[in-house]
Amino acid sequence: MAPHLPTEAGTLAALLSVLVMVAIVALRYLATSGAFALATRSVRPGLYAGLNPQIRREIGWSLASAAIYGIPAGIVAWGWQAHGWTRIYTDPQAFPLWWMPVSLFVYLFAHDSWFYWTHRAMHQPRLFRIAHAVHHASRPPTAWAAMAFHPVEAVTGAIVIPALVFLVPIHIGVLGAVLAIMTLMGVTNHMGWELFPRALVRSRAGGALITASHHQLHHDRYSCNYGLYFRFWDRLCGTDRGLAAEGWDVR
Ligand SMILES: [Zn+2]
Ligand SMILES: [Zn+2]
Repeated sequence: MAPHLPTEAGTLAALLSVLVMVAIVALRYLATSGAFALATRSVRPGLYAGLNPQIRREIGWSLASAAIYGIPAGIVAWGWQAHGWTRIYTDPQAFPLWWMPVSLFVYLFAHDSWFYWTHRAMHQPRLFRIAHAVHHASRPPTAWAAMAFHPVEAVTGAIVIPALVFLVPIHIGVLGAVLAIMTLMGVTNHMGWELFPRALVRSRAGGALITASHHQLHHDRYSCNYGLYFRFWDRLCGTDRGLAAEGWDVR
């Protein structure tokens, strides 16, 4: 039996890594969405009034998505530790320092590009019914809708970062920043009010970025504003309809 031991131990370690990652993604979701749902209570009291059944569905789909996101992430994390897979590095000197901010942007832009095109595809009627109707069942979305995806959509989202770490070198700290931005924007873009100051959101620099005022319009009108972090693809492809009218988030 001895020759089988390393493989069995490896399988067990990979499985453990997956379980830990699923737990981390689920807890990260609950903590972040929970914190912003709580903030919503004091910033916009009554905004989620009557939405409890929808919020329960959002949490259910999101926890299922957390399990799906944790699988590739857990396998890659295990492969990185056990076999040196991926191009994740821990020594800040391994690449020039300027690569850190640049790699952050490269990851966000690559994720945004993947999201834009898969999201647009999922708005084709047939794919919409199969994969994306679940996300749009939130009307209006709440802070709990951040990961409310059908499993098919969750798979398309779950593979992006685990694939990118094999292709583009990234410092572990920058990877943490990418995941933090992903989590923060996923929650705040759905929570029903604008977190960022007007001076940024409605400025020229803000015009390149996606915040709640932009994504809300996607949930209102469906056929526009498909992007994730940047308005680049929406503007280039003529699908950008700008921001929700001022005051949209005050009810
Ligand atoms: Zn959305
Ligand atoms: Zn959509």
